[in-house]
Amino acid sequence: MECTWTVKGSVCGLPAEVRYCLPLCEVHVSTFQSQRTSELRRYAGYSGVESFPGYCYFLLLPGETVKIGYSNTEETLRRRIKDLTREFEKEYGPGGCEVLAVIKGGYAAEAVLHERFRDSRIPGYGERFHLSDDILDFLATAPRIAFSLPA
Ligand SMILES: [Zn+2]
Repeated sequence: MECTWTVKGSVCGLPAEVRYCLPLCEVHVSTFQSQRTSELRRYAGYSGVESFPGYCYFLLLPGETVKIGYSNTEETLRRRIKDLTREFEKEYGPGGCEVLAVIKGGYAAEAVLHERFRDSRIPGYGERFHLSDDILDFLATAPRIAFSLPA
């Protein structure tokens, strides 16, 4: 499969995988993501993402890293947190996963926060970040939603 990203009438053509429903090479996945993020930021701003539907979660993982992800509904949020916890406990043993915060804003919040904390992002680990001072500062004042998994 070839990348179909087109600039001034010329198609990229590098080896591609389907991402965001488009055949994109590694470079153009990044281009797509940063354009999507700036689009979202234009609509939401750093302080207005909570007006978007859905939830954005901060899940502490073993090794002081944090996954920042999103879910559209409370039900998928619970399922996602359970699945991730199970997955990481299988790899690292029980304990070590903890929901640090759930905030409003779903997909838009996730995109904006991924961009905001990009310096803390761990390359190659899918949406995982070092638990940096930036993230801790954000969490200290973030308007959280009460969330707990049934025992
Ligand atoms: Zn490309």
